[in-house]
Amino acid sequence: MTEPLISSRHHNRIADLHEEITAWRRDLHQHPEIGFQETRTAAIVAEKLRAFGADQVVTGIATTGVIGIIHGEQDGPMIGLRADMDALPMQEHGDIPWKSVNPGKMHACGHDGHTAMLLGTARILAETRDFAGSVAVIFQPAEEGGGGGGVMVREGLFDVADCTSVWGLHNWPGMPLGQFCALAGPIMAGIDYFDITIKGQGTHSGLPHLGVDTVLAAAHLVTAIQSVPGRNVSPHETATIGVSMFKGSDAYVVMPDEAVIGGSVRYFDCKTRDMAEARIRALAEGIASGFGAEAVIDYRKNYPPTVNHAAETDLAAEVAKGLVGVSRVLRESEPCMAGEDFSFMLNERPGNYIWMGTDEPGRNNAMVHYPDYDFNDAAIPVGVGYWLGLVDRLLPRR
Ligand SMILES: [Zn+2]
Ligand SMILES: [Zn+2]
Repeated sequence: MTEPLISSRHHNRIADLHEEITAWRRDLHQHPEIGFQETRTAAIVAEKLRAFGADQVVTGIATTGVIGIIHGEQDGPMIGLRADMDALPMQEHGDIPWKSVNPGKMHACGHDGHTAMLLGTARILAETRDFAGSVAVIFQPAEEGGGGGGVMVREGLFDVADCTSVWGLHNWPGMPLGQFCALAGPIMAGIDYFDITIKGQGTHSGLPHLGVDTVLAAAHLVTAIQSVPGRNVSPHETATIGVSMFKGSDAYVVMPDEAVIGGSVRYFDCKTRDMAEARIRALAEGIASGFGAEAVIDYRKNYPPTVNHAAETDLAAEVAKGLVGVSRVLRESEPCMAGEDFSFMLNERPGNYIWMGTDEPGRNNAMVHYPDYDFNDAAIPVGVGYWLGLVDRLLPRR
């Protein structure tokens, strides 16, 4: 490497700890735990926070969530830095020495890296204390579908840690190492799930006139639902609705009493979501009734969209520019249609969620959720440097 990756007043201490943080990261990678089962991970996090000298360590929030609070040497506000701890229920296919030892579980989203980087940050903050205010390091369970971030909010995250702002970071394959992307406004989609059961009258396939065909009604509904993103959502808005499940009978010659379809709705604006939900309900009821059947609709709001606050995003971009240089901080990109439950925290407090690039030439740069993904440990100083830069910027000593 010809030029240093980061410019930070903490550069030397980060470099000293890089190898140790890497070892923590690989240990977490080797022992992945899925949502709300992160007991080993949470125990390691809590033990390390206590060993670093955190002023307060709260465990057991949202089952396995951990909050550490570190006070600076001067008074001031509290900010929250958040990492997710959970792995995915999938089999690892890569061939690395720290490959998962837990069958069917894998750190395929880099939450091992997020946890290790925030622990490293906590250690340096507890050593130096040279800031005015307090930092809450928030380690949440179950980002991958369980909504652990929302559960932490409901179980009193901000009563324990009354943060004036909250900050998230996700590693992002597809962007080079040393690059950041700070998007104001929507960055990750909201996601809801629905199941619709069409109830009719089963019959022999050779005697269709004696039944009410639920499969045919459901097939019309699948087609009609595509009119919602196509015809009801404004061309200036974004929404995608996918029907991914379709269940009828198990026999060639039996028309079922019920057909069930299910899928997801993704959007960036809750008004779009409310409209889509209402249209899906109206189509299901209308189509079912037109076929002489009945629709039972189970529509579940899951993750709200992750919407970055403008002022905090400008500040995050400034911190990233100071760390890696102006030219390596993107301010425009397409938002991602995947979900992220940091949204629940951003709905309560202003803040930002930033993408950090990890790709390097000659390395396996598999995308997150791929079976050969592995977090890039070369990104550790970048992530730790970013967190410390945020603290320097938000909680400067007088
Ligand atoms: Zn993920
Ligand atoms: Zn993730």
